[in-house]
Amino acid sequence: MIDVQKIRKDFPILDREVNGKPLVYLDNAATSQTPKQVIDAIVDYYQNYNANIHRGVHALSQEATDKYEQARIKIQKHFNAAKAHEIILTSGTTHSINIVANGFSSILKKGDEIIVSALEHHSNIVPWQMLCEKTGAVLKVIPMNEEGELLMNVYDELLSDKTKLVFCNHISNALGTINPIEEIIIKAHGVGAAVLIDGAQAAPHLAADVQKLDVDFYAISAHKVCGPTGVGMLYGKEEWLNKLPPYQGGGEMIAEVTFKKTTYADLPHKFEAGTPNICGGIAFGAALDYMNTIGFDAIEVYEHELLEYATKKLLEIEGLRIYGTAKNKTSVISFNIEGVHPYDMGSILDKLGIAVRTGHHCAQPIMDFFKIPGTVRASFSFYNTKEEVDVLVEGVKKAKSMLL
Ligand SMILES: *Cc1c(COP(=O)(O)O)cnc(C)c1O
Repeated sequence: MIDVQKIRKDFPILDREVNGKPLVYLDNAATSQTPKQVIDAIVDYYQNYNANIHRGVHALSQEATDKYEQARIKIQKHFNAAKAHEIILTSGTTHSINIVANGFSSILKKGDEIIVSALEHHSNIVPWQMLCEKTGAVLKVIPMNEEGELLMNVYDELLSDKTKLVFCNHISNALGTINPIEEIIIKAHGVGAAVLIDGAQAAPHLAADVQKLDVDFYAISAHKVCGPTGVGMLYGKEEWLNKLPPYQGGGEMIAEVTFKKTTYADLPHKFEAGTPNICGGIAFGAALDYMNTIGFDAIEVYEHELLEYATKKLLEIEGLRIYGTAKNKTSVISFNIEGVHPYDMGSILDKLGIAVRTGHHCAQPIMDFFKIPGTVRASFSFYNTKEEVDVLVEGVKKAKSMLL
């Protein structure tokens, strides 16, 4: 059970006002807020043991290295990876995806095929387009229906022995659809293709088990799970990470350097060139600790309640349409009021202290599908309340009466 009032006390920012009104933060799909347990971990690092890692023999460096590697193990346990060195610490989902895309540029050949879903974030489309341009591989897209669900029968038809890679988000950031990734992975493996799942939007709502999923790569950003920005994870099966070439050259990723030839360091360092976001990695571990203390089962039940409540209340408003009505979805509601531009709606809500996202949500192909410029997106976290949903609903009604 979620004790939301107690939880809210962990988040100092939730006490602030915006435009003279109590903040109602409903932009959690863009970034989550940070509890004091994570802020404390950040302060502790800079106040007590700030040092570069893996290099020095001195005490601070040892301490920082230990804490950083402990964070990696926390992340490993959270996602149930078999080995700690299968967890690459990156600057976020975008970076993680680019490591894989870059790696496959030396594996793919002309005529090979990559399948992506129609529900992708731009960060999951552009790297594959670049990869296709470089290698002559062909990009294929799994289309979706009006509900925002992938057409799995078309996926079956797209798969062939030419398919080398399949990319799909676990949960769509624009519509909240939970994609059937178990089935996507099994079928891709059936034709010998590797699978990368973008878990950025799933990680705040559920703890994926990468071994049970048998997924080849899984990417997330810490800033969507109560951690800081600029840090994230790429999980990769050891055999794949050994096969892929490094992404960036620099310190920490080499074993031996001469001007003739450089040999690369072992995993995970091969993919971690340069000084990493040390404090960020440690705070990422603290963020997962925090979320696990609350518990993902409790989070799921509570957020589902919020979703159902908000959906029902919003649909009572005449002229309001919700985009993304998949049976399986998380607490993201994308909507528009007929005749109202989402940007205008967002601006008025902001005046009322309500933070929502407006626009195409880095998912323009989805907006094109619905033939709209964008949506208003309210995304709920375990620290939001039904009272805040009521404030949103009243705000939308008020904006509607002002704009129509
Ligand atoms: C947020 C998000 C990303 C990008 O994450 P960054 O932290 O900006 O790299 C990618 N995919 C999805 C589904 C997202 O929600």
